[in-house]
Amino acid sequence: MVFTQHFCAACGSEHIRRNGSAGGHAKYQCKACGHQARFTPVAVAKAAQYAQVDELLSERNSQRSIARVTGVSRVTIASRIKKSAGGPACAAPLTLQKGAEKGVGGARTG
Ligand SMILES: [Zn+2]
Repeated sequence: MVFTQHFCAACGSEHIRRNGSAGGHAKYQCKACGHQARFTPVAVAKAAQYAQVDELLSERNSQRSIARVTGVSRVTIASRIKKSAGGPACAAPLTLQKGAEKGVGGARTG
């Protein structure tokens, strides 16, 4: 189950309500401060969050500190590191298991 929590962009309050729509996007009004705006689509918000993660990674921050600052899961950060580092050049894994295959046919009865 995925819950999307929306917050007021002006004051950060979660007491917001839908207030019509503009350009096909729902608008909201904050009950705390009266601020009105359109909801930021989830994809855009995520892209901005991941851009911040990539910036912090380029500054060689630790995964846990980035997770703390951005709120992105450490596992997600680790997978982003893997994707950015493991491009097509590193796609072929080393296979050093030739010796292990010899022992398979050894125990034969009859
Ligand atoms: Zn507000």
